[in-house]
Amino acid sequence: MQKKLQVEAIEQGSVIDHIPAQQGVKILKFFKFTQTKEKITIGLNLATHNGESKDLIKIENTFFNDQQANQLALFAPNATINQIKDFKVVNKFQVQLPSSFIGVLACPNSNCISHNEPVQTRFYVHQKNTLKLKCHYCEKSFERGTFDELD
Ligand SMILES: [Zn+2]
Repeated sequence: MQKKLQVEAIEQGSVIDHIPAQQGVKILKFFKFTQTKEKITIGLNLATHNGESKDLIKIENTFFNDQQANQLALFAPNATINQIKDFKVVNKFQVQLPSSFIGVLACPNSNCISHNEPVQTRFYVHQKNTLKLKCHYCEKSFERGTFDELD
């Protein structure tokens, strides 16, 4: 019932639900949504029925491709994306954590060769509960929280 209300407000676009609290603003920044002219509605620290809080983003006239959905998993591994057309949910899917991320994150290891060579950063997902990523170049593993995103 509540979910229905949340998605009915836009005519066409995407609703990203089940974003962990604090991640919504990062997602807006990472995907540069605020630099578009599309109408965006965000809900921060919304209550969920299990007593936790979540963020939610509604963005008009914007749809995620598979690569973007994978990148979204970096911020919100359990997010769902609702595609809206004519005020109706025409597609709903859960983001999938891919096995690797290429060219998205900067390696937290300042001695890593990826900072000095013209290479795309590459990280392998190797622990799915607390998300850890292993650098292809320096082979060190880092928790998700220690990363900066590339611009
Ligand atoms: Zn590295």
